[in-house]
Amino acid sequence: MILVGRTGTDDIVIRGARVLDPTEGIDAIMDVRVDAGTISQLGPGLDANGHRVVDGDGLVLAPAFIDPHVHLRTPGREDEETLASGTAAAAAGGYCAVLAIPNTEPVVDSTDLLRGLRARAVEESNVPIGFMAAISVGQLGVQLTDMGELADAGAAAFTDDGRPVATAGLMRRALEYNAITGRPLALHCEEPTLTRGGHMHMGAVSAELGLGGWPSLGESLCVARELSLGGDTGQHVHLMHLSAHESVELLRRAQEAGVLASAEVTPHHLALTDEAVRTLDSNFKMNPPVRTEVDRLALIDALRDGTVAAIATDHAPHSREEKDVPFEAAPFGVTGLETAFGALYTALVEPGVLALETLLERMSAGPARIFGLERPRIAVGSPANLVLLSTTATWRVREDRFRSLSANSWLLGQRLQGKVALTVAAGRIAYEA
Ligand SMILES: [Zn+2]
Ligand SMILES: [Zn+2]
Repeated sequence: MILVGRTGTDDIVIRGARVLDPTEGIDAIMDVRVDAGTISQLGPGLDANGHRVVDGDGLVLAPAFIDPHVHLRTPGREDEETLASGTAAAAAGGYCAVLAIPNTEPVVDSTDLLRGLRARAVEESNVPIGFMAAISVGQLGVQLTDMGELADAGAAAFTDDGRPVATAGLMRRALEYNAITGRPLALHCEEPTLTRGGHMHMGAVSAELGLGGWPSLGESLCVARELSLGGDTGQHVHLMHLSAHESVELLRRAQEAGVLASAEVTPHHLALTDEAVRTLDSNFKMNPPVRTEVDRLALIDALRDGTVAAIATDHAPHSREEKDVPFEAAPFGVTGLETAFGALYTALVEPGVLALETLLERMSAGPARIFGLERPRIAVGSPANLVLLSTTATWRVREDRFRSLSANSWLLGQRLQGKVALTVAAGRIAYEA
């Protein structure tokens, strides 16, 4: 079992929503009935039979989302996020499951730590969590973790995220273990000798602002390495938070050549360019940085055609003291769980750039497929993992409304169209607006 957390046996009837499950080929106005946490009936005019009735009139009911890239900051920085607060934020964002990144304090590199977190998740989480483990001990890039034992103890995947896998040799050995564990390697692609001292995309805007640049090549060079090693070993490589059009081109060519490569993209890389950094607001400082309009459009194209099959928030909570400093002194990272759907509906779907069906697929079935998780689906007999969405409601992103313990959102003060009304995760109502 990869995902661990609270499950439920709620009895619910959701009435009259537009039920939209692109992968199942469902798009119809009907009722969905959940008995004891399992979808039991689809159709018009279902008998409520004493169940809790939710009015879905004018709303879209879809498979709930899965976020494959979330920093829950536990253990070590529970002032910034806990398993409870991070998964409450996830539920508010329409997610029925998240995968947690192991760059905590200490790093999740031992079975003891992994087992402890999994036990806590059963008690504390609002939606199920899959915990990733580190590729290298302490994420120091020297010695591989005991990947076989960690996989047996339930590691969802392996990553040294926060930093790249230090060397090609270590990466190659990790891929060889991958053949045994069957769990994916999730890769933060960065060539540190090119990105040192970089605070934003290296280009015209960084030159004008006089800020150190983090060049596209800092990512694409490492992407090329990982794709080459993936191709050579015949193993799956998953590229995290792609940002540069050069990386997208390399991925597309590798996939065409038969390399088992997948990728994710974040809402901020899909919605923003480096022009946003002119504000010098540290909530626009992320790693990798947001880049140019050419890059943004390449990422959208890749998402549309499936080259990039998943949207991940890279939710990275930071305390106010850490972020409330000059741009160059601030840490990288922004939150994203509670705003992902609204941000992407507003930036891409409402203006007609991306179909709603594609957005829903890339937030749910896409990440499930990449990480070998059960796909949330609207089908009789499936566990209820559902999200009820308004595509017309607008709301303002406000610091005091976050479930997350941190508020370092790039959307503070902005008005978004697209809002989560209800989330059912693992058979349990996990969020209601
Ligand atoms: Zn990263
Ligand atoms: Zn990350």
